[in-house]
Amino acid sequence: CGIVGVVGSSNTVEVLLNGLEKLEYRGYDSAGICVAGQDGETTLVKSVGRIAELRNKVGADVTGTTGIGHTRWATHGVPSENNAHPHTVEGGRFTLVHNGVIENFEEIKADYLSDVNFIGQTDTEVAVQLINHLAISEKLSAKEALRRALEIIKGSYAFALMDITEPEVVYVAKNKSPLLIGLGEEFNVICSDAMAMISETKTFLEIIDGEIVTVKADGVTIETQTGETVERAPYEAQIDA
Ligand code: GLU
Repeated sequence: CGIVGVVGSSNTVEVLLNGLEKLEYRGYDSAGICVAGQDGETTLVKSVGRIAELRNKVGADVTGTTGIGHTRWATHGVPSENNAHPHTVEGGRFTLVHNGVIENFEEIKADYLSDVNFIGQTDTEVAVQLINHLAISEKLSAKEALRRALEIIKGSYAFALMDITEPEVVYVAKNKSPLLIGLGEEFNVICSDAMAMISETKTFLEIIDGEIVTVKADGVTIETQTGETVERAPYEAQIDA
């Protein structure tokens, strides 16, 4: 239902939790964040219920410079901690948040993931497992595995993906679900609604369906599905913090 993300922040946990709180009005059943430090150490915290409960579960010792967060409106699988996002794979290399519905998740499971043990019932867990499977079996980078996965996945999605082998990057893609990049000074943010990040920046970059976006602290690169770089001017959001 809502996505937030940040790269290059000294205040990652607060940026994510504040952003999720601003999306609370949309309604949701569970929420979670994943935060990574520059050393690749990753913390994943999820909870059913309010963001205040998630906040209570996030220890004061959780720090990092990169993170993604999600509020879930369950479409596949009951509201539960296992079904809450972010979803990760065994070993924890990839972590994914997703808004929308993957229509062919049963086929993907049967065709590519018959050996995988799933911890929940969501279509999203199938997507992160597919990315992991493609990265391993075809020896692909996170960006290339995401690109390959998007050729297979059908449905609506806004995705934000982390790879612990590249802890200072978040990869983003969308199809028929909203997602924006917010541009900051030496940090950048990701959100499904500008409202969530308006206290961090007023400068936003639109993403078009099918593009693959690499978000780093010092820059954002947009590519088409076939790998050509796209130049796009940002715009100023006309809303108050
Ligand atoms: N289909 C996903 C799920 O059920 C995402 C739902 C959402 O957009 O919040 O977990």
